[in-house]
Amino acid sequence: MSNRLNSTPNDLRAFWMPFTANRQYKKEPRLFVGAKDMHYTTHDGRQVLDGTAGLWCVNAGHCRPLITEAIREQAGELDYAPAFQLGHPKAFELANRLIDIAPDNMAHVLYTNSGSESVETALKVALAYQRVKGQGSRTRLIGRERGYHGVNFGGISVGGIVSNRKMFGTLLTGVDHMPHTHLPAKNAFTKGMPEHGGDLADELERIVTLHDASTIAAVIVEPVSGSTGVLIPPKGYLQRLREICTKHGILLIFDEVITGFGRLGAPFASQYFDVKPDIMVTAKGLTNGVIPMGAVFVTAEIHDAFMQGPEHMIEFFHGYTYSGNPIASAAALGTLDTYRDENLLTRAAEIAPYWEEKLHSLRDCPNVIDIRNLGLIGAIELKPIDGEPTKRAFNAFLEAYNDGLLIRTTGDIIALSPPLIITTEQIDELFDKLRKVLERNI
Ligand code: PMP
Repeated sequence: MSNRLNSTPNDLRAFWMPFTANRQYKKEPRLFVGAKDMHYTTHDGRQVLDGTAGLWCVNAGHCRPLITEAIREQAGELDYAPAFQLGHPKAFELANRLIDIAPDNMAHVLYTNSGSESVETALKVALAYQRVKGQGSRTRLIGRERGYHGVNFGGISVGGIVSNRKMFGTLLTGVDHMPHTHLPAKNAFTKGMPEHGGDLADELERIVTLHDASTIAAVIVEPVSGSTGVLIPPKGYLQRLREICTKHGILLIFDEVITGFGRLGAPFASQYFDVKPDIMVTAKGLTNGVIPMGAVFVTAEIHDAFMQGPEHMIEFFHGYTYSGNPIASAAALGTLDTYRDENLLTRAAEIAPYWEEKLHSLRDCPNVIDIRNLGLIGAIELKPIDGEPTKRAFNAFLEAYNDGLLIRTTGDIIALSPPLIITTEQIDELFDKLRKVLERNI
């Protein structure tokens, strides 16, 4: 361990880092060399409290023994098996275990390697399903402003974060967007779900009227938007979307890459809100972030529509070399065991009231213009510095890191989503550290 500390690689040039201010980073690098439970160890030997579960994914905390052991064992036993026309037992076992904890209308699972791939897979299932049902004119996809659905072409097309879209041309055609639900003038500092904005779901009716339902395949939303700065759905909004989709024969896709695996206090947001989508997109917490893997859940109706024609025929032309990879499957099984043994998929429900109270106690800090929360998610929106949007939040991120706290910033928003194992004492520590940063009037 000791020879890994105090050592920064001496040449950082070759790696073009993702979603990173590369020039700033390489002048002042930040590296993690170890992690355990709620903490990272930095290259200069400091402990950093993980306020974000890595990137919203390390839900069980770091280096958990059942996961580490499952990976080690699997790597020595069966390292890889071809994913097409062949299989291995753990991929099947995992699918059954996932269906056991999923909303009760979910019946089948397709595997991917990331959230972005899960989104592409879900959109392709939706389009192909409409076609196999004899409704080939349903080709349109509906997303939402400020939605984040990963970085591949389908995902940025239905997504609504302008900076992620504007460099890449016209993207998919036949995509429309509903308005986002962020209404700060009415809902600022709401605890939990906002009162105002549920009627924004009716914008979907407007889009249906404009294009006609017979042209629309699916609607995709994040039940709680994360990467755009944490937007909590207004009361009644998701229920209304479900009603409109059902009425018009449109598939409803929930992107649960962040909300899946316990973030809100139920295994999935669908169960938390009691709204059942037709397709559910997941990744991140599936393997506790340890090995890249995603899963797309579909109903029996969708799956069965594809199971026609001669038995030896492939029913859906889609898949990845690493779909259901043995080591990833083993990691996911170790993760599900950890969640089960420690009741982590419902723990956020117990600790959420404490979390909410502590989070909102930062309301009096300088430059705080909104605070939002649900489950073990929190967001603090800061007043942008004139002419330099995002700078204040980025400064907070740097200062917090130096003070031993990992936060995430998107735009002018600080997003928080700690591992679900966080204790009340660690919640106190997190918000004490953050208060000190904010009080510096950064
Ligand atoms: N969908 C949502 C809702 C996400 O939050 C993310 C990642 N933050 C993705 C998709 C993309 O996941 P990945 O980075 O694993 O491709």
